[in-house]
Amino acid sequence: MTKIFISCALPYANGPCHLGHLRSTYIPADIYARYNRMAGNEVLMVCATDEHGTPIAVKADLEGKEPIEIAKRYHDMIAEDIRSCDISLDNFARTTDKIHYKISQDFFKYLYDKGLIYEETIQQLYCENCEKFLPDRYVEGICPACGSEARGDHCEACGRALDPTELIEPKCLTCGNTPIICDSTQYFFKLSHFQEQLEDYISTNEYLPPNVRNYAENWLKEGLQDWIMTRDMKWGIPVPLEGAEGKVIYVWGEAFIGYISSAAQWSRRTGIPWEDYWDGHVVHFIGKDIIYHHSLFWPAMLMGHDCKLPDDIFAGEFLSLEGRKMSTSKNWVVWVADFVRDFDSDLLRYYLTVNAPLNKDTDFSWDDFQRRINDELADVIGNFLHRTFTFTKKFFDSKVPEYKNPSEEDLEFEKAIKELPDKVGDLISDMKFREGLVEIIKTAKKGNKYFNDQEPWKAVKEDLERASNCLYLSNQLSKVLAILLKPYIPNKADAICNMINIPIEDRWEDAKVFLEEGHTINKAKPLFKKIEDKAIEQQKEKLYKNLEESEDKKDSRDKDSKDNNKKLKDKDIGEKMDLISIDDFAKVEIKIGKIVECEKIEKSNKLLKTQIDIGDKTIQVVAGLGKRYAPEDLVGKKVPVVTNLKPAKLMGEKSEGMIMATESAAILNPDDCEIGELLM
Ligand SMILES: [Zn+2]
Ligand SMILES: [Zn+2]
Repeated sequence: MTKIFISCALPYANGPCHLGHLRSTYIPADIYARYNRMAGNEVLMVCATDEHGTPIAVKADLEGKEPIEIAKRYHDMIAEDIRSCDISLDNFARTTDKIHYKISQDFFKYLYDKGLIYEETIQQLYCENCEKFLPDRYVEGICPACGSEARGDHCEACGRALDPTELIEPKCLTCGNTPIICDSTQYFFKLSHFQEQLEDYISTNEYLPPNVRNYAENWLKEGLQDWIMTRDMKWGIPVPLEGAEGKVIYVWGEAFIGYISSAAQWSRRTGIPWEDYWDGHVVHFIGKDIIYHHSLFWPAMLMGHDCKLPDDIFAGEFLSLEGRKMSTSKNWVVWVADFVRDFDSDLLRYYLTVNAPLNKDTDFSWDDFQRRINDELADVIGNFLHRTFTFTKKFFDSKVPEYKNPSEEDLEFEKAIKELPDKVGDLISDMKFREGLVEIIKTAKKGNKYFNDQEPWKAVKEDLERASNCLYLSNQLSKVLAILLKPYIPNKADAICNMINIPIEDRWEDAKVFLEEGHTINKAKPLFKKIEDKAIEQQKEKLYKNLEESEDKKDSRDKDSKDNNKKLKDKDIGEKMDLISIDDFAKVEIKIGKIVECEKIEKSNKLLKTQIDIGDKTIQVVAGLGKRYAPEDLVGKKVPVVTNLKPAKLMGEKSEGMIMATESAAILNPDDCEIGELLM
């Protein structure tokens, strides 16, 4: 038995959770925690909302509220999001809790007393108009490394931590002025002092997954810089030193401590020391955007404290949405609260796990979600359970029948059932959550095939032994599924236990114990309802409508703003810099077509439905050109069209291709477009 300390990256309390958060962090952490509890290990899983820092302060300024009000609002929402997806946290705290202030200040003071935090006068951005220094998100500009739009402390596009003075074209976020550079005294953490120790930690830690190790090794090669630990602002944890009035600890100097303070809060409540768990096996589940902080900065702070270091840092990669990068500002996002209003959260847990391994970027698409739920959960698992239970009721009086003189097929299937618990358990222990789930589905598929081959509906009349062996084993697999699915889809797993008429199973080992002959099962109930096309269409319409609305807002804001256009362009270049080979390009078929019909789509102010003659046939294309062109302007025009796109539905209309256009115009005539505009 091992004690395991699991932490989930602290969600930042300036917005609710979306699917990306769940996929990278909370669902994998929960699968791991639930499995380990079932396997007999002792687990402490903690999290907290990260409530300091400039984004919350900026938002509070904008709304005329106190930062704590903003933080409380989103803490409550996030807590509900996490609860609604059955993430089984042992404690969910806040970095504004008193205990967190105390531990963070003690931590800071300890490092300062050891000489690992020192004072230095540096240059900082200062807004003369607002009369204040501009830490972090109070300033925005262009990332010097990749050319993307970045906020003061961090570039989302390339993942690099930044100093605001490095930004190209910095702007004060509050008033839009260009700030000046001024002297200010701040405190620094001697990160560079730990270079060698960190190199050793990264290269010898056997648990670190390759993505974390690679990122960390690259940063180590560049050499570590000391890290500024303080900010001049009111909102935050005061620096616990004399002469440091008006300064607070930088969020990344205290957010990690949320893991500890949340655990300490749990200890106070339960009387169980959290330190025993930290001394066991420590796993941090995070998103890939904060690998730097967790693989280098946090271990160095712990080294400064002579603490045991984390054993594993598991970083989930990004999730895009319908093929494009998620963006909360463009409302191109699916919020957890919206999702669970319309669908069972277990479906989400299933889909986000089975969709791709966590060390790969992947995409959430509503069509694929529907397909996987219907084809896999409903048709494979649901179907197998349903036929097993209904046959058992109909032909064996709801009792698990006898198992006698097994055939070769029986023995082979029995073996597959018996091997499954260890196979899946090993994969989950190894952080291969998707692979574990795929094994379960594969075995259920095998179950369906076995059931078909044994034809119990015939055998029950001709060869009773064959039929009863089939139903005996099918019931055994049902029990194994009920237990093995629990870490993945806990509610559905419990529902299966109820149908089998066994207690809600909480021990992995029980999956290896077969149901006894004669055990009575309960009545079967439908477990997975198929998702209808209409439900998916509604979700997609909602999504595209959100996007249009936010683009309309943006259009009115951006009008005539050349500066903004340039930024956008630079940003796109930054994001799309990945080069492709000629083979990739050869996959795209572009033809010149002639628009023969064109009409507006009722519900949209932007989309036009066009019929385009592309030589051998006429295709229907829905194009977002309605704001630039009236339908009659386009009829008769020739346009380049991508003709081998997978058909999609937009606002309920089929679209079989894409007119090549830029953000400002279709390419009726390239002279209408700006130099450097991207095709989209
Ligand atoms: Zn960058
Ligand atoms: Zn200003």
